[in-house]
Amino acid sequence: MNHQMAVEGMKSAWDPSRYFATQRGRKVMRTVNAFKVTILCGFITILVLRGTMQAGSGLPDSSKFIDEDAERFQGLTRTSRMLKEAEDETPVDSALVGKFVEEEKWDPSKPYTLGPKISNWDEQRRVWNERNPMQNVTRNGKPKILLVSGSQPGPCGNPMGDFYHLKYLKNRIDYARLHGMEFFYNVATFQKEMNSFWAKLPLLRNLMLNHPETEWIWWMDSDAIFTDMTFEVDLERYVGKNIVIHGFNDLLFEQHKWLGLNTGSFLLRNCQWSLDLLDAWAPYGPSGEVRMNAGKMLTAKLVDRPAFEADDQSALVYLMLFGDPQWRGKLFLEWAFYLHGYWKFVVYNYENVMAKHKPGFGDDRWPFVTHFVGCKPCQYAVTGEVQECFKQMERAFNFADNQVLGKYGYAHRSLATWKTVKVREDTNDPLGLYKAHKNPQDTPTLKSEDLSAQFLKQKEAAGLEKVLPKTTS
Ligand code: UDP
Ligand code: MN
Repeated sequence: MNHQMAVEGMKSAWDPSRYFATQRGRKVMRTVNAFKVTILCGFITILVLRGTMQAGSGLPDSSKFIDEDAERFQGLTRTSRMLKEAEDETPVDSALVGKFVEEEKWDPSKPYTLGPKISNWDEQRRVWNERNPMQNVTRNGKPKILLVSGSQPGPCGNPMGDFYHLKYLKNRIDYARLHGMEFFYNVATFQKEMNSFWAKLPLLRNLMLNHPETEWIWWMDSDAIFTDMTFEVDLERYVGKNIVIHGFNDLLFEQHKWLGLNTGSFLLRNCQWSLDLLDAWAPYGPSGEVRMNAGKMLTAKLVDRPAFEADDQSALVYLMLFGDPQWRGKLFLEWAFYLHGYWKFVVYNYENVMAKHKPGFGDDRWPFVTHFVGCKPCQYAVTGEVQECFKQMERAFNFADNQVLGKYGYAHRSLATWKTVKVREDTNDPLGLYKAHKNPQDTPTLKSEDLSAQFLKQKEAAGLEKVLPKTTS
């Protein structure tokens, strides 16, 4: 018995399951497990490295492998060093944006130009479109619109700026998809003198020349967002006009206000007149002395303009008021809907419009575009005003996004939050083909012709009718 007890005792002392049940045992076990994971990770890393570095070659002998590895490693460190150096050179300050492009140096004694003078663009476009039939119309047979937006090449001074650029970019992608428009987003500097708000000018010219198939180029600032996802601009209104821009006749032509129109969202027809307008507009923009002096002139000429360097909007207002009459002759000042809606006038009204109206109006009842003029979300300074901007930018995004998410069965809990809530139960009849039959057992078997007819109907109704609530007038 004693002997047996001793054996039992020894057995229990060496029984691994009991040992690992003790606190010390568990600790040892955890260490061993962690060690195993480390070894496994190391092994996988070596396998992956060998795999990627040796792609395409047979298995070399191990000494060669080690030599090649060492060489490759040196190569990698050289590359990463070069990348690091390049990074060090990358200015974060958007004021230094000119560093991002190499081009011929502009001689300030000569007038600034966006490129070689083109005088027969209408003819060139006509010939191109004749040679490339059907390229200049959408699938619905409408003239093509290219939606264009962009932001600075480097990171924002304030990371929140990048966060909202991303969300606002998503909004534009949604709008373009829903309305069958092509979309171009630019983060490159095209001409170093044309930084900040002037960057759109060389970009617009470039896109016109490289997209002869597109009839309209629609510029949207990065701080502007579509807030009526249903509304569609009626191009028929603009026959005979070449620039469509939000503004007010009295503010512009009678009061000469620098805010008489807004260049945050406008349509420009792809034609000779527009190239000429850009040529007349650009000379106010080159950064440095020219822009500073132009700013002084614009402040003197325009009403309520604070003293600052020339901006694209003031220069356009100036051209419309005091420039060649051909400019105002082809201008369509749009005030029937918010092609640009000043954020302070619209964002505090979102809940109200949601309660009273449906999307589709684009005006006070449901603003088409909300533009965060003056917010400068990408700059360093985070003042109280900028905080309010971010708060309202989030609300504007959620207000717009609810109109997109609805189709997918979700909505934001409130305009203030990016949190979402499910607003529709999942179903085994997602296309609603059988919903007339309450009891799934009663569901008749549809013949394939019936199904395709149903699908055709669905397809026809797809897109906006399905995505968004129907508009009422
Ligand atoms: N922008 C650009 N590239 C740059 C810097 C600015 O395309 O390197 C664009 C961007 O879309 C921005 C617009 O220029 O929204 C005009 O500037 P901002 O919106 O800050 O002017 P505001 O509307 O406040 O007058
Ligand atoms: Mn803007």
